[in-house]
Amino acid sequence: MAAGDFDNDGLNEVAGVRGGGIYVHDFNTPPSSGFVPGAHFLQLRPCHLAVNRNNMTSGCDGMALQTGQVEQMGSVPSTPAKNAARTAAKPTMKCQDCGSDASESDRLCPTCQSDLGFPNVRAATTRDEVAALSRRFKDARNEADNRGVKAEFDLFVSEVRSKSHVVVAVPPLRARDLLSDPRNIYVGYEKLVGSGSRKPAPLQDDCDRRAVGGKLFGSFAHEICYGVLSLDGTSLPNYGLVFLKLRDVAIKRRVSFLYENSYLFLKRHKVPVRGDLPQGYRSSWQNRADLAATKIGPMLVPGSNASDWARQVVVQGPTRSDDSCVEAHVFRGFDANAVENIAFAGPGASRAEKVDIKCINELMAKRTAAGGTP
Ligand SMILES: [Zn+2]
Repeated sequence: MAAGDFDNDGLNEVAGVRGGGIYVHDFNTPPSSGFVPGAHFLQLRPCHLAVNRNNMTSGCDGMALQTGQVEQMGSVPSTPAKNAARTAAKPTMKCQDCGSDASESDRLCPTCQSDLGFPNVRAATTRDEVAALSRRFKDARNEADNRGVKAEFDLFVSEVRSKSHVVVAVPPLRARDLLSDPRNIYVGYEKLVGSGSRKPAPLQDDCDRRAVGGKLFGSFAHEICYGVLSLDGTSLPNYGLVFLKLRDVAIKRRVSFLYENSYLFLKRHKVPVRGDLPQGYRSSWQNRADLAATKIGPMLVPGSNASDWARQVVVQGPTRSDDSCVEAHVFRGFDANAVENIAFAGPGASRAEKVDIKCINELMAKRTAAGGTP
């Protein structure tokens, strides 16, 4: 039986949304609703179709199903054979509340809307990822021991565990907008462009950003805001002169970290379009110190201290390609209440930037006078 042939007539069934309901019909039954190869379809679970089989008359007009009965969504390929091959790929996670299959990209269960967790954090905390990071951490600690800097290594880990935060660099105008109205939400580039509220970057840059985001995050790439892991509140001025240090409570459940800038990471590891990411280079908030130690451990020198390490964790280069950081990926945007404090990379290059920075300082002073960060 073909994967979608639920009524055993030798033809796959497909379905689509029409008039507020979900309708099913045989793959090659010309339906009035226009389900043709290339159209979207919804494939249904056999158990539910068995219950509803008596309703499946020719053309199947009028058989509405619940969304919970939907198993998979995609495009109808040009042949039934292709259809069967495509539907053979199964989702790899299940909702713990209702048992439905869910995609690794889902934040919410498509059937019951239960919270499945933040997909970037889930991806960084799979059993294989955690095990790979643990191995890399042990190797880095052994290497530090061999070089006589084990004490510095352990102190560095302790420092990152207790004193590191997420800092986002933004242009002065964006920081001013965020702080001046509590209704404003900071979101990333892809969401701004997707919503039509800003123009895309030049095509090559736009393609690069979307390719990198797509490779790391798939269909939720537009939900990610990028920042860095920082020990001293600094970030990367190549992304903006204003450093927004975020409150831990605002992001710690929804942030994941990557060993380095995501573009440089994919380039360095020569990750192909269709291929897995190397493992052990991502972390959650809880094990961010282990990840940072795998990167900074080999650079530690005897007698170095916290201020030395802060400058090694965030390296501000002449261009973005020369920067170095442990990149932070925050799922979804944040409001002004998420900002703990602000630092500046400089006084501003233009008169407009200087005015924006002056406004930001006034807004922060007012906030401090009113009781500080909520
Ligand atoms: Zn569910």
